[in-house]
Amino acid sequence: MAGLQFRIHLDDVFFVLFEQMHLQDRLAPVEKYADFDIDLYKATLEEAARVATEVLAPINATGDRQGCTLDSEGNVTTPDGYIEAWNIIAEGGWIGTAASPEFGGVGLPHNIGICGTEFFGAACTAFAMYPGLSAAVGRVITRSGVADLTHLLAERIFTGQWAGTMCLTEADAGSSVGDNRCRATRTDTEGTYHLQGEKIFISGADQDLTENIIHIILARTSDAPAGTKGLSIFMVPKFLFDNDGNLGERNDALVTGIEHKMGLNGSATCTLTLGMNGPCKAWIIGEEGDGISIMFTLMNEARIGVGVQGLSAASLGYEYARSYAKERIQGTAIRDYKNADAKRVPIIEHPDVRRMLMVQKVYAETMRSFLYKMGMHLDLAHHHPDKEQRELSIQFIDLLTPIAKGHCTDVGFDCTVQALQVLGGYGYISEYPVEQLVRDTKIASIYEGTNGIQAMDLIGRKLRQNNGALLLTWISQAKEKTERGLQEGFEEAKALDKAIDHLGMTAMHLGSLGMQDQIEIAMLHAVPFMNMYGTIVLAMEALEQASVAKKLLETQPERKLLRGKLQNLKFFVHQLLPSAIALGKSIQSSDASPLQADLF
Ligand SMILES: Cc1cc2nc3c(=O)[nH]c(=O)nc-3n(C[C@H](O)[C@H](O)[C@H](O)COP(=O)(O)OP(=O)(O)OC[C@H]3O[C@@H](n4cnc5c(N)ncnc54)[C@H](O)[C@@H]3O)c2cc1C
Repeated sequence: MAGLQFRIHLDDVFFVLFEQMHLQDRLAPVEKYADFDIDLYKATLEEAARVATEVLAPINATGDRQGCTLDSEGNVTTPDGYIEAWNIIAEGGWIGTAASPEFGGVGLPHNIGICGTEFFGAACTAFAMYPGLSAAVGRVITRSGVADLTHLLAERIFTGQWAGTMCLTEADAGSSVGDNRCRATRTDTEGTYHLQGEKIFISGADQDLTENIIHIILARTSDAPAGTKGLSIFMVPKFLFDNDGNLGERNDALVTGIEHKMGLNGSATCTLTLGMNGPCKAWIIGEEGDGISIMFTLMNEARIGVGVQGLSAASLGYEYARSYAKERIQGTAIRDYKNADAKRVPIIEHPDVRRMLMVQKVYAETMRSFLYKMGMHLDLAHHHPDKEQRELSIQFIDLLTPIAKGHCTDVGFDCTVQALQVLGGYGYISEYPVEQLVRDTKIASIYEGTNGIQAMDLIGRKLRQNNGALLLTWISQAKEKTERGLQEGFEEAKALDKAIDHLGMTAMHLGSLGMQDQIEIAMLHAVPFMNMYGTIVLAMEALEQASVAKKLLETQPERKLLRGKLQNLKFFVHQLLPSAIALGKSIQSSDASPLQADLF
């Protein structure tokens, strides 16, 4: 059997961006994007897909097998091909795709950056962690400023001369960020500190890709209050530097260990020890106590970015499974089950294999639709001239970020497992790329706030925000869409409308549990609620896509992609949406059995 080929589904990407969302028109009022048109967007995406296919995909399996190594001086070596890939990514402007040209970026819409995240993440997630985190660090620096170093740092980071890391986690402070103990002591020079402590699980805390690394570190001053309020955020370079960016002596921020882990082996996951042998020099970002609010400015984007990892994995897994199923010959067609001499068929003819493929196709395509829309709203929220539009986009992002991160990474992982199942035993062996995809994808439900924490954020904060107004607005807009769907002849819109009502009732039920001081029971049902809501959100995308496709098919009946969108809606509503109704019933039972004392 021929090897499974890496492929980016550019047809669907273009359909979502330019035929469904009309990105070119929605962003037209934004002054900074005025010079960009659809041709430029398409050419950029084609180039991103080429880089993903020709540069990153080839280093994916070798990087997994080789992993990273650490020497006794705290220097990490990345797998073969990573340095060359970094140089190509940096020179191509793929680190600062959405950053302002003023800071060395390309200045393209955030939405285009999200597409790059999908393509590069699919090609080699482990590698993509390095530029992804660098871009996040660049954003912290440009938004919040670091004394008079902002330009110098941002330019070097967005152009890939230096890289960046985000350092939050400590051994006893993972989900509970407020328990961070890393200490910051003021020095005689205003704005500078010495840090002492240990961060764990830090992605890319050392590597051989760049001459310098900028760590963004959460720590607390000795007189700071307990919890998140007492946290400040600091810029800590690996090498100190002068006003022109020339490198000087090594700072005392040293990698003292790297993890051996389930996947993502080309990404060095490091223990970073601060101030062990000498001063670890740090510059404060913002003011003391601003740590969490600064992290919050980045949180939605970072979480949507991790959600996109779920999409990358689902989409690539589907491509692998589909191409395998077309070639793998096994058994006869079910209608010939009595005929031992019947022709042997490719497994894609077996109904159960088609069901598994459909699950992956539908989820990949609806997640793409949903997550790209989140990307577009990031652009509108930051840059649209109309205040009302900015507000609407901010609310949309606020409400749905836990779904983007939590639901899409769970679904993405499940899809990789389905892809593996399509390959049977060959899926389980490392000669085929799907087992690595499963291993590399699992982490997305854990970092950037575990999915349990996302679900708690959804029901504990987002549903209650503005007295529930965010959800109510979403529901009324969704019901307008189902009504339109019915008018357009989509019978499936009826079931969707009922599911939306059921969602509203279930949210009210959770709210009443909170008011009756039964917060533990509410939280017990947080993840099921996130998955119920997520399922309905994605089903709504299937409806919207079917509606767009139906109109386009009138003049372009030959397009298979469009016909597929109509089947996607049917499949979603009949075979996936019922799980949302079941989850709602389960949540409304208020079952509290896991909370009984002495149970485990
Ligand atoms: C490969 C990898 C890369 C990483 N990269 C980085 C990085 O670059 N920078 C960085 O700072 N960190 C990084 N991390 C750390 C990651 O963000 C943490 O692992 C994650 O936040 C979870 O923390 P924890 O592992 O301590 O788990 P815990 O917080 O101990 O959670 C364990 C379980 O308990 C649940 N739980 C915990 N608290 C609660 C609560 N209050 N209510 C309900 N449930 C709860 C969680 O949902 C989870 O299921 C990385 C981790 C890995 C494995």
